[in-house]
Amino acid sequence: MIEDSLKRALRKATSVCRVLIRMYGDIIHENPLPPIDELVLTILSQHTSDINAGRAFRQLKEDIPNWYDVMNASEAEIARSISSCGLFRLKAKRIKATLSEINRRVGELDLSLLENMDLDDAKEWLTSLHGVGPKTAAIVLLFSFGRPVLPVDTHVWRVSKRLGLIPESTSREKAHRLLETIIPSDCVFSLNHNLVRHGREVCRARGPLCSKCFLQRVCDYFLRH
Ligand code: SF4
Repeated sequence: MIEDSLKRALRKATSVCRVLIRMYGDIIHENPLPPIDELVLTILSQHTSDINAGRAFRQLKEDIPNWYDVMNASEAEIARSISSCGLFRLKAKRIKATLSEINRRVGELDLSLLENMDLDDAKEWLTSLHGVGPKTAAIVLLFSFGRPVLPVDTHVWRVSKRLGLIPESTSREKAHRLLETIIPSDCVFSLNHNLVRHGREVCRARGPLCSKCFLQRVCDYFLRH
């Protein structure tokens, strides 16, 4: 029984991947950021728009170009550079603490040990850093290392539940684990991008545009309403 529903979810995930690629295109990730850069950028983007996070990141790199100097800078100094993004004082503290912790554990500011680490161990390693949750860990692993881990943001979470890829009651944290078991690994990167796009443009939080949606045929929400 459980096997049947898993098979159904696998088939549906594959079909959703294909349809989205056909409609939005296959996304090739080029010029990945180095892992420490990606990690800091992701911390900056928490509860902030991508535009403001990107602005804060560029300013930080301009003011303090070396991550060792960021680690040794005062929180106030870091906060000044990243003040264009929300919660900048908290994030300054978090960035300094995260860099210090990586340096303490690894002996340098280098995350390349994650490249070939068992995937679950790599996720655990990253999420054991203070302030790094499953989504941030997934972004670093997917975007910097090309490893098949799907970051579940609010769009991915909502659309996956409506489609019926995961049960309606699934927590965001659990969604990471469930989606990973059903999404073909060669599709993770484009699916992440395409689900976010679909959530923003069509399957909106309030008032999904079901009549214009090309996923109707495989969508539980559509079939129920
Ligand atoms: S049919 Fe409606 S609920 Fe389903 S994915 Fe499309 S917009 Fe979202």
